[in-house]
Amino acid sequence: MTSRPLHGAVGQTLRIREVGDPVLRERAREVAPGELPALQGLIDELIATMRAAGGAGLAANQVGELVRVAVAEVPEGGNPRYPYKPPIPLTVMVNPVIEPLGPETLPIIEGCLSVPALRGELERFAAVRVRYLDRHGEAREDTFEGLSAGTFQHEVDHLDGILFLDRVSDPRTFMTWEQFERLHREPWLARIAAP
Ligand code: ZN
Repeated sequence: MTSRPLHGAVGQTLRIREVGDPVLRERAREVAPGELPALQGLIDELIATMRAAGGAGLAANQVGELVRVAVAEVPEGGNPRYPYKPPIPLTVMVNPVIEPLGPETLPIIEGCLSVPALRGELERFAAVRVRYLDRHGEAREDTFEGLSAGTFQHEVDHLDGILFLDRVSDPRTFMTWEQFERLHREPWLARIAAP
């Protein structure tokens, strides 16, 4: 394992599909471990596309591929779209499965690279376990809390053809990115930081 690069920023960037594209509404299929060698290029492209777009995650549906592969990463110091998000080490997930670790939920004002400019508030489980295969087929298990837990739920939703738009229970919470920054970001961060 040690001779393999953990990740590569070697992939080309791909066009990100936007809401209205039917591929975002389809369920991606499970990947057999034997397919992983053929998927390494796609994985590098997902990483490169996520990084170039400043996203915290990207699922294969978002680049038009219906396989259950998604990536997530928030560098130390945050990312340009989500400077308030805690760091997430680069994670490549194949066939990820989410298990809530309790009934508690957290209101999150989400955005999505496939839904330009729009954000909205929805509830996500506050803590989850994620089981997946890494890019080499090794079984992995991680737990995440708070905004990071939300990121993983958002990415696995993509693989099921679900967009955050579907989970916004009050449509009056939709807002542009600009209005989020202007009016909503600070009160929301204060709200979710409260004990
Ligand atoms: Zn998304």
